[in-house]
Amino acid sequence: MRGTVLYAPRDVRSEERPDPTIVEPTDALIRLALTCVCGSDLWPYRGIAPIDGPTPMGHEYVGVVEEVGSEVRLIEPGQFVVGSFFASDNTCEICRDGYHSSCINRQPGAPTGSQAQYARIPLADGTLVATPGMPTEDMIPGLLAASDVLGTGWFGAVAAEAGPGKTVAVVGDGAVGLLAVLAARQLGADRIIAMSRHEPRQRLAREFGATDVVTERGEEGAKRIKELTNGLGAHSVVEAVGTQESMMQAIRSTRAGGHVGFVGVLHGVEIPAEEYFFSHVHLHGGPAPVRRFLPELVEMIWNREIEPGKVFDLTLPLEEAAEGYRAMDERRAIKTLLRP
Ligand SMILES: [Zn+2]
Ligand SMILES: [Zn+2]
Repeated sequence: MRGTVLYAPRDVRSEERPDPTIVEPTDALIRLALTCVCGSDLWPYRGIAPIDGPTPMGHEYVGVVEEVGSEVRLIEPGQFVVGSFFASDNTCEICRDGYHSSCINRQPGAPTGSQAQYARIPLADGTLVATPGMPTEDMIPGLLAASDVLGTGWFGAVAAEAGPGKTVAVVGDGAVGLLAVLAARQLGADRIIAMSRHEPRQRLAREFGATDVVTERGEEGAKRIKELTNGLGAHSVVEAVGTQESMMQAIRSTRAGGHVGFVGVLHGVEIPAEEYFFSHVHLHGGPAPVRRFLPELVEMIWNREIEPGKVFDLTLPLEEAAEGYRAMDERRAIKTLLRP
């Protein structure tokens, strides 16, 4: 099969790779309908997160089940399925509490890499959610977004306790931040402030439900959020970047008693403990338990209540994955779809 491998920073290659096979009796094999590049793939691409030799890339996936292992009961060949970046059993106490991304049997969701034609998915019964039928072509990008960026943005908004009566601010205008805006809207927030200085992303944020846009960032950004909220700060802030500046921007934009949902993978962030102590801000986040939300997200997409696939603004054949990475790295694209 054709698959995508990162050899070294900025060295992405599309090459022939061995076809994945069933390894564990709980595995499924899927044929990817569409796949994509993630903002988090840019960390190793830029050399910020080290890699240990050539690494198959991709952790977001939707597709048709080709084959299942002998212990798979719920998932069947021929079904169209959505999974996410961690495989989970969906049965342990931690999963039952909704924290599938800390499942006691957690594994990588697509260990063979999903920027490929086929992928092996561990713990198929717990990990995969089947759609009610075969989706139409136009629905597939939205389902793929549910696999990570929508699920992650959704968790960010839930962790920030976005809802009726709340003012929500979103730090970060990548796919996750934009979809956190959509999530906040769906969860019934009164006012949603997107923090972005890029015009096309501001437009999409407004389409997804942002009521205000703030272009300042860092200290200035936090100051602007306070000005817009009677000097108090937002009730709920979603942090969808993961840098020192964005994390502090999020905490300092939140009112006393408010909540920060942080879902940007943190890199070298240190939170000053004393400032945090006196802030009265709740922090909750981490790798999103996307699996918790998948059934309801799939249903909303199936019923055409939301269109999260709009975050994909570049489509390339799988063979041109390297250009897909470059476009995102240079911020020419929000998110790249790859056609296997
Ligand atoms: Zn991702
Ligand atoms: Zn579990």
